[in-house]
Amino acid sequence: MKRRTKIVATLGPRSDDLKILDKMIEAGMDVARLNFSHDPYEKHKERAETVRNRARAHGRQVGVVVDLQGPKIRVDAFENGSIELYDGDTFILDANHDPSLGNTERVGIAYKELPNDVQRGDTLLLNDGRIVLWVDEVNGAEIRCRVTVGGELSNRKGINKQGGGLSAPALTDKDKADIISAAKLDADYLAVSFVRNAEDVHEARRLFREAGGKGGIIAKVERAEAMDVLDEIIEASDAIMVARGDLGVEIGDEALPPVQKMMIAKARTMNRVVITATQMMESMIESPIPTRAEVFDVANAVLDGTDAVMLSAETAVGKYPDKVIAAMDRICRGVEEQRAVTKSDHRIDTKFSDTDEAIAMASMYTANHLGVKAIAALTESGSTTLWMSRISSGIPIYAMTRHVDTRRKVTLYRGVYPVSFETTTEDHAQVNKDAIDELVRRGAVRDGDLVIITKGDLMGEHGGTNAMKIVEVGNMPDPEDKAGIE
Ligand code: PGA
Ligand code: MN
Repeated sequence: MKRRTKIVATLGPRSDDLKILDKMIEAGMDVARLNFSHDPYEKHKERAETVRNRARAHGRQVGVVVDLQGPKIRVDAFENGSIELYDGDTFILDANHDPSLGNTERVGIAYKELPNDVQRGDTLLLNDGRIVLWVDEVNGAEIRCRVTVGGELSNRKGINKQGGGLSAPALTDKDKADIISAAKLDADYLAVSFVRNAEDVHEARRLFREAGGKGGIIAKVERAEAMDVLDEIIEASDAIMVARGDLGVEIGDEALPPVQKMMIAKARTMNRVVITATQMMESMIESPIPTRAEVFDVANAVLDGTDAVMLSAETAVGKYPDKVIAAMDRICRGVEEQRAVTKSDHRIDTKFSDTDEAIAMASMYTANHLGVKAIAALTESGSTTLWMSRISSGIPIYAMTRHVDTRRKVTLYRGVYPVSFETTTEDHAQVNKDAIDELVRRGAVRDGDLVIITKGDLMGEHGGTNAMKIVEVGNMPDPEDKAGIE
């Protein structure tokens, strides 16, 4: 069985080694993430080109996500690279301090608004929550804190405010420049960090389109205040990311598991894609095998219904970049095999709004109940396959399209596989036969298998899917025989 859940892997210094990148592709990377928090544009452009070339060499399609840094709030640098903070110490975050001269008494902060956004009694979490500061007093540019939980603090570690409420807009000047870069390297998705509301997503999309970007927008849900307007954010986006790193710091780790489940369910119901991210295989940065807890974490995300699971440092800088993908692949398959879902209550009570949605739903209902081997969705934009993949099913959905953009976009959709398919005829019987031949050629189906074909009357029209046909491989009407058509 093919794996349905997709794997997003972050590229970095580790994957710059071509041999390693090849192994990552072979192990099953579906989507490559370029993390714009690190490295210059030239490096990312090179990585995007290389991964696409190598994927092509493997006869595969790998999508590319540009992940913007966003207004990540950080301490500046220390004179000696790092300091040790002890419980009960006084420590000052000082917006006016020299950015390279931090010490045990005070450190600079790049985000000058921070003193306006906090007040006495607030809790600040540094280095992903490892260090906890209690705000004692704000005086001009200085935030005087008491150390509640100490530890080592090194250069440029992140700062989060517990409960959220930092005023920084989602798109910094660097992000706006990076959006233009993302369009230039033809990103399939643009991931927007620290979105506060739907307007942040709309603005990112506007800038991306203005720069010529064609890809989808991923909203990274990682701020406490985003939780209050989640529906609008999902509605505004093509995909959301459960960005558990920052989100867990802001809302508390105990709140994360129900929030992950709720976000995945909501995204699927609203016909959006969802990625589960951060620390899924953290120990594999150093270790060749995952912990049992990590095995269960990946498995649970698959059971929750996520489209994709994501790797960050594990593949960007970790010691076992291909082994970690192979481990994720193995875990996803293990769960999917045990739970070949053939039943779904999705949208059972709702009215369908579009013809293509209705065809998609009818196809999946039929596929789950008739013992169909595959679904061949002849598609332009891939929208029909998105509808289909929101339904739980064990049946592969082939997005057959002539558009490379569409083939790359569906790399993120659970259970959807891109197939390059060019039709040269308007003759429906011939098109059906060509589509089935292509799937036979790929070993996806063989004589006697039932296949559902969906397509539109007018090939080449977006959102025009209005027909569903059930065919038996090896027993299809002769294209010359006009009586057998549609
Ligand atoms: P990041 O986002 O890795 O870019 O911080 C993901 C997260 O916060 O979980
Ligand atoms: Mn984050």
